[in-house]
Amino acid sequence: MDIYKTLEEYAHSLGLSMHVASTDIEFSESRLREWIRNGYHADMEWMTQNTPLRIHPHTIFRNTQSILVFSLSYAQNIPKRRGKIALYSLGRDYHKVLKHKLQKIVSYIHSMGEEAISYVDTAPIMEKCIASTSGAGWIGKSSLTISEQYGAVFFLGEIFTSLNVAPSKPLTSDKCGFCTQCIEACPTQAILPNRTIDARTCISYLTIEHKGSIPMKYRKLIHDLLYGCDKCSVACIYNPIKEIPIDPDFSPRTYPDVRDILYLTQESFTSVFAGSAIHRIGLSQLQRNACIVLGNIGTPDDIPALQHIQTTSESPILHEHAQWGIDMIRGR
Ligand code: SF4
Ligand code: SF4
Repeated sequence: MDIYKTLEEYAHSLGLSMHVASTDIEFSESRLREWIRNGYHADMEWMTQNTPLRIHPHTIFRNTQSILVFSLSYAQNIPKRRGKIALYSLGRDYHKVLKHKLQKIVSYIHSMGEEAISYVDTAPIMEKCIASTSGAGWIGKSSLTISEQYGAVFFLGEIFTSLNVAPSKPLTSDKCGFCTQCIEACPTQAILPNRTIDARTCISYLTIEHKGSIPMKYRKLIHDLLYGCDKCSVACIYNPIKEIPIDPDFSPRTYPDVRDILYLTQESFTSVFAGSAIHRIGLSQLQRNACIVLGNIGTPDDIPALQHIQTTSESPILHEHAQWGIDMIRGR
């Protein structure tokens, strides 16, 4: 059996799909620079660094002969709860789940005497561009990678290896056609023409990456989104209709109601959220988001929780967000 088939079968046994990108790919530096010049990266300064690696991804690992691209579905129903958590964060942190699987493939490649390294959303590479050249999907109007098999609800990870594996065929046509579902689903109009996202206005960025105060103009638009936003991904017309078995690690965990998040201590926060992607943003930022959600959907019964934050937290940002939440509830 050729090496492509052997690796593909091993990937399948781990619940992954595999594609292979060629190493002679090179991405548009001017497009990346224009995105940064327009400020669409918000305060994610790391996006302005390592440009040569982003343009020539194979240079990240010496002796790269092939870039293996892996896809892992997380398609599942959205559980009903006060304070929505994006689908990709309902279970165990996907960085850990996917990395663990990729490490098994890396070990297998090492056992053949070859070199390999895996990345899951951690390296300065443009993984959506790499995925699209490998045939794992295409970059949709939402700027997400879209696959006919998994729609918009899957994770990507890569292995750079000295093993020589024949590249798979990239998709040749744009399959979005006249569809604009993702653009219409976006509450903040963060999806710009030319498959570009303005991170400054994207709720995923605002609730996860952004550390400071949430600008007033986005607070009502955030509505009940406690952590992340997946309105554009769940709107994709290519999302699978039939259920795809997903890794049990992605099954939704039981998280506290949005009001109870305001009563968490550092210790209880860690015990509830350790191992999830939500844990990465820290208690204070999650409570900031909870104040906004309660301001939008809360009732007078939630006011004591918001006042609790004002009496227990030393963060001026939390005080102000809690007051905004109280004012919004009283104003209804
Ligand atoms: S994640 Fe949400 S806010 Fe960001 S582009 Fe998608 S729909 Fe818009
Ligand atoms: S919702 Fe439609 S336009 Fe948006 S990425 Fe999916 S297919 Fe493309």
